[in-house]
Amino acid sequence: MNDIKKAAEIILNSKKTMALTGAGISTESGIPDFRSSSGYYSKMDPVKSLSKDVLLNDPKRFYSEGFLILNDLYNKEPNKGHFALAKLEELGKLSGIITQNIDNLHIKAGNKKVYEVHGESRNVHCMSCNRVYPFSVMKEKVEKKEIPPLCDACGGILRPNVVMFGDMMPNDFLKAQQQIANTELLIVVGSSLQVSPVNYLPSYVDKLIIINNDKTPFDRDAELVFHESAGEILTEIVEEVEKELK
Ligand code: NAD
Repeated sequence: MNDIKKAAEIILNSKKTMALTGAGISTESGIPDFRSSSGYYSKMDPVKSLSKDVLLNDPKRFYSEGFLILNDLYNKEPNKGHFALAKLEELGKLSGIITQNIDNLHIKAGNKKVYEVHGESRNVHCMSCNRVYPFSVMKEKVEKKEIPPLCDACGGILRPNVVMFGDMMPNDFLKAQQQIANTELLIVVGSSLQVSPVNYLPSYVDKLIIINNDKTPFDRDAELVFHESAGEILTEIVEEVEKELK
């Protein structure tokens, strides 16, 4: 039996399956990841430019470097990896996605149960009065060189709804941990599994399938590892699951 068939069989026999996704599932949508050789780390240090400390103390740097990362996500479209996971949920074989991504692409692809544990880039909010604005409002202000961009209502500083280095984890992370507690199989897609605390989640499940171009620290614990591109592999696995269900 080849590995695609084996993966489909593990999914079909699993009592509850979740996916954990990272930046690698979205590189095929034209969004760079952090740690590949062409990722953001090759140009800047995201820990410094996308941190709360820099936002508060060096807004110019935040809005010239960190903001570029957010701007790169704007109006991107899901790829076949995202659509395959949406199909798996539709088939009743995926209970939800825990994503580290902030690009909104799982929701755009049609997944209903998405836990955005590093926040999202649809909206921004005022740090003083908490008023929420669409991301496009911040984008327009930054492009007009209004740095830092300010709240029209109270003059406070606007910030993205993404979890930055130095921020607390959001409520979705708590929900994700609750979901993982009774999950049998976790399909990890496009994550180096180097960002904590999300990288603890794979140790709480019985079975892992890992789809990632590079090696991860959890490869040796997995039932199956695909060091290949996510879009094609996920499509093949989900097609196989669908075939078996017919
Ligand atoms: P990472 O950059 O640390 O790791 C990405 C992994 O994906 C790498 O190991 C790489 O080999 C693999 N990869 C790249 N393209 C792939 C493909 N087509 N198929 C299979 N594997 C592929 O990313 P991470 O683990 O998600 O952690 C970094 C942080 O980056 C997260 O907190 C996330 O919020 C943030 N981030 C998000 C986006 C996004 O929303 N799209 C983009 C960049 C960074």
